[in-house]
Amino acid sequence: RQLVELNNVDKIYPNGTIAVRQVDLAVSEGEFISFVGPSGCGKSTIFNMIAGLTDHTRGRLSVLGTTPRDARTHNEIAFVFQEHTLLPWTNLLENVTLPLKLRGVPRKAREEEGRRALELVGLGDSVKSLPRQLSGGMKMRVSIARALVSRPKLLLMDEPFGALDEITRQTLQDELLNIWQNDKRMTVLFITHNVFEAVFLSTRVAVMTPRPGKITEIVDIPQPFP
Ligand code: ADP
Ligand code: ADP
Repeated sequence: RQLVELNNVDKIYPNGTIAVRQVDLAVSEGEFISFVGPSGCGKSTIFNMIAGLTDHTRGRLSVLGTTPRDARTHNEIAFVFQEHTLLPWTNLLENVTLPLKLRGVPRKAREEEGRRALELVGLGDSVKSLPRQLSGGMKMRVSIARALVSRPKLLLMDEPFGALDEITRQTLQDELLNIWQNDKRMTVLFITHNVFEAVFLSTRVAVMTPRPGKITEIVDIPQPFP
């Protein structure tokens, strides 16, 4: 079944801006799909609609077989943004398990999941560290762990590595690819300005253009180990 499906979707903001027009997209379980295009082409708008943060104006949109808002309330979607919103004086384990705490998951189960998520990003030995002591790349790892802690079916990443230096960016790309390859069922939607990053990471790349935002082409990326 299709995990995410958009048919002829338009988004017009209340001020009249036509942000995206006639978007068709079908994403299957386990795909890694990237969205590339210049600023203002509607990448964030598409994400926000899929995430259930803003409604679409026309067309049909389904996420995990239901409406985006419904999928969100089932905690099946997780986000990672460029600017990390970690609590600087709270240790990594508590930062990462915060989404579970808000959901009322008991402490023991929470901490098990938190350790598992931090191990996935190579921070299993740093559960007591404070974010304020960490570099940008390390903070991004914590943000990714916090997204993975809920075992999301759908992971939305909006320019996550945009602020990192080139070496750190490449390391995190490798790590993300590993995590995704080891979890055959997690689907990733990824925004980037960087075409090389998109091609390196993705199974498909959606190329977008602005005014109005459109997907002009979806390119299949040959996979080394299909
Ligand atoms: P990006 O290119 O990284 O998506 P933007 O500067 O386009 O960043 O948007 C940043 C935030 O401002 C987003 O939440 C977006 O929805 C909002 N935004 C962008 N353009 C407008 C606008 N013309 N009016 C109101 N809000 C806007
Ligand atoms: P991208 O993420 O590719 O930079 P956006 O989805 O942020 O693109 O924006 C697409 C278009 O919609 C832009 O013209 C932007 O200014 C406009 N836009 C984004 N958010 C809003 C908003 N909240 N209100 C009005 N216009 C917006």
